[in-house]
Amino acid sequence: MGLLQLGTPLAWPEAKQAANQVREWGIEQLLTIWRKAKVKERDALLWGDEIEYLVVAIDDQQKKVRLSLCQADVLKKLANDHDLAKQGTLVPDLQDTILPDLQDNAIRSGSLPTFHPEFGRFMLEATPGKPWGIGFKDLLDVESDMKNRRVIAKQHMDPDQYPITLTTFPRLGTRDDYITPYYPPSGPALRSQFVPDEIANPHIRFPTLAANIRSRRGRKVELNVPVFKDKNTPNPFHDPTVNHDLHIWPEDDDVRNGAAKENCVYMDAMAFGMGSCCLQITFQAKNIREGRTLYDQLSPLGPVLLALTAATPIYKGFLVDTDVRWNQISRAVDDRTPGELGEKPLKDDRWRIPKSRYASNSTYIAQDPRLRPEYMDPNLIVDERLKQKLLDGGMDDLLATHFAHLFIRDPLVIFSEDLKVLDPEGSNHFENIQSTNWQHMRFKPPPPDADIGWRVEFRSMEIQITDFENAAFAIFIVLVTRAILSFDLNFYIPIPLTTENMETAHARDAVMKEKFWFRKDPFPRRSPKASPTLNGVDASKESLGPVEDEYRLMTIDEIINGTSSSSSDEEDYFPGLIPLVESYLDSVNIDVTTRCELARYLDLIRNRANGTLWTGAKWLREFVRSHPEYKHDSEVSEHIVYDMFRAVDDIGKNEGRKGWMISMA
Ligand code: GLU
Ligand code: MG
Repeated sequence: MGLLQLGTPLAWPEAKQAANQVREWGIEQLLTIWRKAKVKERDALLWGDEIEYLVVAIDDQQKKVRLSLCQADVLKKLANDHDLAKQGTLVPDLQDTILPDLQDNAIRSGSLPTFHPEFGRFMLEATPGKPWGIGFKDLLDVESDMKNRRVIAKQHMDPDQYPITLTTFPRLGTRDDYITPYYPPSGPALRSQFVPDEIANPHIRFPTLAANIRSRRGRKVELNVPVFKDKNTPNPFHDPTVNHDLHIWPEDDDVRNGAAKENCVYMDAMAFGMGSCCLQITFQAKNIREGRTLYDQLSPLGPVLLALTAATPIYKGFLVDTDVRWNQISRAVDDRTPGELGEKPLKDDRWRIPKSRYASNSTYIAQDPRLRPEYMDPNLIVDERLKQKLLDGGMDDLLATHFAHLFIRDPLVIFSEDLKVLDPEGSNHFENIQSTNWQHMRFKPPPPDADIGWRVEFRSMEIQITDFENAAFAIFIVLVTRAILSFDLNFYIPIPLTTENMETAHARDAVMKEKFWFRKDPFPRRSPKASPTLNGVDASKESLGPVEDEYRLMTIDEIINGTSSSSSDEEDYFPGLIPLVESYLDSVNIDVTTRCELARYLDLIRNRANGTLWTGAKWLREFVRSHPEYKHDSEVSEHIVYDMFRAVDDIGKNEGRKGWMISMA
């Protein structure tokens, strides 16, 4: 979620007053960082993964599962144990784990995973203790490292508590006691009808973030997810959990003003979005140029990987008609005012803003001759004044545009201590804006005080139920980046098409049923810069042809596995990301055993894309629909959720042996 720091946070009216100062100082800090780091050259392509967990307490007696608000306790226990680990006591600690093979790994890597807090007080995040390197052997350690993290987390929990990698808790915000310890709604920060303030991490940053989003917006956040219409679902459907008669907060008027939409499950708090778990991969590039290339080339893959990892079919006790978390998080942190949303005339605000702070990205930044102006987002909003500052500071137009776009947002959490003097060598004001722009790609400059390079974060993927799957997606994306860099691949499509693809990824079973815009020819072309200019006319430009000819709608199977040579005509040929990765692996020196091991992971991706294996969303939906207690009315009862979590835990226990395969059978 970004930086944690201590101080006195400003409530919204004061924070708004200080917004310009924070932006100005943030831009100054960015220029200093950029000037220093633009010449940085590194050799190794390092990378890291982040796994987010829900922690639940399973009550076998009552056959009930609750979210456990135990983040602080678990982190405390882990921190204490990390001290022990530094003294070399890790091995005895691991000796009686259920996965004894991990001991070797722990000794060999010599570094323990790191655990972090997240937005929900029921969430944990874990990363490897040190970044993964360029070597293929490292890829083979990812799965066991992820398993190790889960084992270590579990060891620092009570016996009834479990770290679970589902994106969302299916009964978050229902009327029963779905959290432990129990707190009733609603508190002054979230003002939610459904969840208490205690659902969020108590660190002052998080309630302030939620409260200031609400205040800036002028009402609560509004999440309406279409309900999944089963044969006994009321038609029209009115979310029965919504209370129209509350009069605690002024925001209770939201529902009387129509916030809860017909045929939708309605939610009203940041926790319904930022309480979701994802799988993120961060790459460190060898220099800024490579970072900018990766940012652009991975961007069109975001929606494809969102659809492939889909794992979110249930909200607030109801099956919904979408499969992914993305738009819910987007709405859960959408601080735009009615003016910015275009619902009312613009009065106090500067622009109409087309997207939430959490949304698909809107810029390309690589200085790549293949980047045609037609690919850029015609609706991009930038702060022209701040852009000019960056240009005056020597930054090029593309990068200045990118940051001046992020800087259209107000800082949401400002600590009064930070407004006294500017630390020109710091990054706090820059990070304030940067880390609350949750786009599906993030371009990260080096922190001023650490020996770290330019990084690119790939943020769209949903967390998977098993570590085998999480490792497979991490490894796949890593290998795709290697193929991109090694073959100089070109996945450019116009940005609005990626925005559209992101919506498409939400559809139920999008992997099998939808088509996504994708570039037809990913292979590098002759650089237009190198082409001759005839009478002042750039010959290469003419030979490029209309942009519309460069892409077409493809199934996920075509994008991942390629078009089959027999069926399609030449015009429709696409090589497929897996075959591209395979050619990359053919082109490097890699031993047979490693290659075979990697094939297991690539098979999962291949089979997800062709439908042989189900997405988590499909499995969860079918689990509910085939449960004897399910009444085909969209409701997911406490008992069904209990059985679901037991099943999820069993899958986790068994996957070590056979790898988890959900088949059509
Ligand atoms: N949990 C958020 C998600 O599912 C991301 C939070 C973060 O950036 O760490 O996308
Ligand atoms: Mg996180």
